[in-house]
Amino acid sequence: MYGAGDVRVDTVPDARIVGPTDALVTVTRACICGSDLWPYNKMAPTGVGNRMGHEFIGRVEAVGADVRTVKRGDLVVAPFAWSDGTCEFCRQGLQTSCLHGGWWGGTELDGGQGEAVRIPQADGTLVVLPVAADHALMPSLLTLSDVMGTGHHAALAARVRPGVIAAVVGDGAVGLCGVIAARRLGAERIILLGRHADRIALARDFGATDVVEARGDEAVERVRELTGGLGAHAVLECVGLETAMATAIAIARPGGAVGRVGVPQDSTIPNAKPSFYRNVTIGGGPAPVRAYIEELLPDVLEGRIQPGRVFDRVTDLDGVPAGYRAMNDREAIKVMIAF
Ligand SMILES: [Zn+2]
Repeated sequence: MYGAGDVRVDTVPDARIVGPTDALVTVTRACICGSDLWPYNKMAPTGVGNRMGHEFIGRVEAVGADVRTVKRGDLVVAPFAWSDGTCEFCRQGLQTSCLHGGWWGGTELDGGQGEAVRIPQADGTLVVLPVAADHALMPSLLTLSDVMGTGHHAALAARVRPGVIAAVVGDGAVGLCGVIAARRLGAERIILLGRHADRIALARDFGATDVVEARGDEAVERVRELTGGLGAHAVLECVGLETAMATAIAIARPGGAVGRVGVPQDSTIPNAKPSFYRNVTIGGGPAPVRAYIEELLPDVLEGRIQPGRVFDRVTDLDGVPAGYRAMNDREAIKVMIAF
């Protein structure tokens, strides 16, 4: 990405093993993230270009001398951040705060929207998938690299538990996965706040029991009506805009929680006084999806959840710039790249 609206398929130096904890992975599936659309709309032009993509599945081609848990030929899924798996925060299950970790792409490291990626901490980062690279579940498995784990994180941060009323702000891929996660964790009712017909239909399939298409004060009013005037116990904020966060806090009931996973586009959290006087917990952040892959994997493999349904378009590498346009114009929910 060279700047807002400027995504090109370019040739970069080949990915290769640099250190003993590295693996070299050739990408078989990747995708475009809703969070990639923030720079797609805002990024200042640069002559260098950022390598893009942080969600991918691939085949291990080679490993460094110290790598133990993956070997050449393994099919692996990578979480959207890399981590050593051994530091204080990794051992707590907060791999996105790894002391020796980092993020894919940029100008230094490869991105998943490319043919091959150098994995700096292979043992801590990669998870071997027990299926062939062309398995029918590949779309759902790919969501374990970000959106399904992120939806799950939102649900945990919002303290979804059996019997509660959950509300999901945002009908993008993460919001839709948040609906799956809320249902999986036992929410009795799930209110989706969104306004795109195709996404709403999918959300209902995933377990949304109510849909609020209004925005702002009207949306808050509708959720209050749906909850006997009390608000939702658990609110998943899956957008990142100040207006979405304001709505999320406003629809949380006293003692409730907001789990935010939308990348914040503003430096302040709105509605400080209402959240204080109603004892609303605000939690969340970059999901440690590495911690959730093993937990969610059986549900995907055994068909209990189908998060791969968020992909409604598939492209090859050359089609990535058009994929960005399609997602930005809301013509596609989420675009998968097949190599
Ligand atoms: Zn770590």
